[in-house]
Amino acid sequence: MPLDSARGKPVGLYTCGPTVYDYATIGNFRTYTSADILVRALKYSGYKVKYIMNLTDVGHLTGDNLGDADIGEDRLEKAAKKERKTAWDIAKFYTKAFFVDFEKLNLEKPEKFVKATDHINEQVDLVKRLEGKGLTYRTSDGIYFDTIAFEEKTGKKYSELSTLARIKEGAREEANPEKRNPRDFALWKFSPKGVKRDMEWESPWAPPGARGKVMGFPGWHVECSAMSMKYLGETFDIHVGGEDLRSTHHPNEIAQSEGATGKKFVNYWIHGAFLKVDGGRMGKSLGNAYRIYDLEKRGYDALDLRYFYLSGKYNEPLNFTWESLKASQVALAKLRSLITVHRSQSTRTTISEYRNRFLQAINDDLNTPQALAVLWEMLKSSIPSSDKYDLALSFDEVLGLELSKSPKKVEIPEEIKKLIAKRSILRKEGKFEEADEIRKQIERKGFNTQDEKISR
Ligand SMILES: [Zn+2]
Ligand SMILES: [Zn+2]
Repeated sequence: MPLDSARGKPVGLYTCGPTVYDYATIGNFRTYTSADILVRALKYSGYKVKYIMNLTDVGHLTGDNLGDADIGEDRLEKAAKKERKTAWDIAKFYTKAFFVDFEKLNLEKPEKFVKATDHINEQVDLVKRLEGKGLTYRTSDGIYFDTIAFEEKTGKKYSELSTLARIKEGAREEANPEKRNPRDFALWKFSPKGVKRDMEWESPWAPPGARGKVMGFPGWHVECSAMSMKYLGETFDIHVGGEDLRSTHHPNEIAQSEGATGKKFVNYWIHGAFLKVDGGRMGKSLGNAYRIYDLEKRGYDALDLRYFYLSGKYNEPLNFTWESLKASQVALAKLRSLITVHRSQSTRTTISEYRNRFLQAINDDLNTPQALAVLWEMLKSSIPSSDKYDLALSFDEVLGLELSKSPKKVEIPEEIKKLIAKRSILRKEGKFEEADEIRKQIERKGFNTQDEKISR
């Protein structure tokens, strides 16, 4: 990937982090793991990286799910009511929970986690800047970004930034009627009349006809522009986020940042694809929005999940099933046991061919499935044991699977044991074709018929 930053100068990388009103799911963590692989791959290739991730703790409204992020309740305030805590307590609790899982997945800590509520001044300043350029207007509930004015003044097409029109079909009638254009979005919202929010601040703005101070809070999109530009500069290299941010959040970030600065905001946008569950959508209402805790309850480790993530390319949908997680658990245990064998004979030598192929895979748009394939092939090759160990640990700087750990004993499910028994009977009876079918079934479930080490 060609980057503007010359080697030596840090690559600026910003990831849109979680909204801390609930536990992050394995879907959320897929994106953060992809960002982590990218950071590690850049470092492995000799770049310095300045990595920033935000924590959204205010302003992310429930209407976002319906395609209009300017309506509905603030997720934090809603959770606070439900859990009988303050929004501040909610943020604190779920941020801490997020960090625990973050560490379990062996994700490298960003240089800074930045919170929206710690950067209210920066957000107000950005809105003022946009106001100064004539890119905002006021309604009874807030200050809005004017996408038509943006197009007229910058010559840029907002519609080219966004896939919003497609996504918003069906959700339109809920939109705020005071918006001049459905694509416009809130930069600052006034606290509703008579409502005392847990999180609200003074600002230079008030609704038409209001007397006295009117408190308010920033719109959801503005935090990411304000904070990324504060820490990484008005133009920076890479911005990562989930696919769900492609239609609205990111086009809005671009429009308001470039509207304010007149400069290009970000050089490369990286969007992580969705995680499906059992072939369908994952959702809290569907009861399948699993988190690390749910996996641990069933005897899995967060790094089994990390291996599973790596088995797919970050920008292609990946289907989570308990069976596929089992297969990942088995594969990771096997990798570790293969590596343990080579540990004692470690020397400093390396074999450049495998290293190059591994690098090629990673540099091919973070092709982690290919990188894993190179690792497996290398371990099964005839290169000296010591080189295998060194190379595997070197690759692990990117993969982050803690490969030098001793492998966990993986229990063989009853179902697999039965298949193994069936296969050996078929073989004894000379029915090799049928036995081979059984072997394939066993392998599809992530087990290896020759692998004695893992089965005991
Ligand atoms: Zn973003
Ligand atoms: Zn964001």
